[in-house]
Amino acid sequence: MLLTKYYNADTLYLKEYNVKQRIGQPEILKEINRTHVLDIIKRERVVSRAQLARITSLSRATISLLVDKLLTIGVVEEIGRGESSGGRPPVLLKFIPDSAFAMGAHMYDSDWSMVVTNLDAVVRRSITLHIEQNSPRGAIDTLKRGIEILTSEFSGKMLLPAIGLGTPGLVDIHTGTIKSAVDVGWAEVPVKKILEEETGLKTFVANRSKVGALAELWYGAREGIKDLIYISIGTGIAAGIIHQGKLYIGTNSSAGELGHVTIIPDGPLCPCGNRGCLQQLVSEQAIATRARQLLRENSRSRLHKLAGNHPEMITVYHVLKAADEGDELALSILDESAEYLGIAVANLVNLFNPELIVLGGPVGQSSRILTDKLAEKVRLRAMAYPLSAVQIVTSSLGSYSGAIGASVLVLQQANRLIFQ
Ligand SMILES: [Zn+2]
Repeated sequence: MLLTKYYNADTLYLKEYNVKQRIGQPEILKEINRTHVLDIIKRERVVSRAQLARITSLSRATISLLVDKLLTIGVVEEIGRGESSGGRPPVLLKFIPDSAFAMGAHMYDSDWSMVVTNLDAVVRRSITLHIEQNSPRGAIDTLKRGIEILTSEFSGKMLLPAIGLGTPGLVDIHTGTIKSAVDVGWAEVPVKKILEEETGLKTFVANRSKVGALAELWYGAREGIKDLIYISIGTGIAAGIIHQGKLYIGTNSSAGELGHVTIIPDGPLCPCGNRGCLQQLVSEQAIATRARQLLRENSRSRLHKLAGNHPEMITVYHVLKAADEGDELALSILDESAEYLGIAVANLVNLFNPELIVLGGPVGQSSRILTDKLAEKVRLRAMAYPLSAVQIVTSSLGSYSGAIGASVLVLQQANRLIFQ
């Protein structure tokens, strides 16, 4: 059972350890089960050595060795004896989430948001650093400064020797290379390689909407959900797809490019070369541009005042605020945005049959109205049966959600980092 879960789960792990060909051999099964000891303790919260041996099929002696290591680090504590099932009552081990910590960083515009989370992905420290120079070198140097700050603050504590990164653009998760990030004009940046060489930290890199999805899975409002899609709306639009509790990345880790699905066949030209892509219609810039256009025909909108009577200064956030205040023009703009977004999201509902769709990113998480309007539009388009299973909500994780998800990239490997 444990093996099945593992085999479906972490292709990266399989690749690195090359166990695919050897799977089924007893020693490999044991190796796999050993790496899941921490996961089991975390899930059970309180567990005995005997239970661990039973669940993993490992010998009592192996379990004792692994537990000794966890006791030394402080990941578990002995909390007395449980109920006897015949012999001596077993000693119970309690999981201590604040015994080890993981670092995550998320890049958006020209800022890094960075967090240190505990083993439950609860934030224990957060910082934001401005990237002075828009270049891969500038971004990496700023990141290294953040790493120094956080590692010195957590000196003396068990900070896992790794970092997770959520970055813009198409990322090859296996090599940790940003293949192309149109937003910032980067291509072929081997972030993982550079950072590992310069800091010695094991580095995990994923696109920022993928880490956003991981944050919702680990730390979002809905516990126990295994199939969810997180949609980040900001300067671009992208989706992070979680299937059966794991990130769905696709063949070359580019799954989820929702911003580039075609909504209007002959619509505005997109930097990707296609026309009528979703993010040409519903991104930060697209909504602001639409507002400026419509304001010419509407002199009564609150948007005039909000932008200090300078329509050229209007941003999407003015539109969201005016909509909250009941401004008709702003509401009509959000209605139109929800219409476009609704086409894409209804397709996702029909294709993936998720239980939860979470709107996040700077725009997505700032407007309850946009989420409600989107839910309305999706209701009109998606098929009734998958629709009956899905809920559409706004992310409640705030501006550090991407950094939390990036720390999850590390937490997913906590077993290996602790037992290595
Ligand atoms: Zn496009």
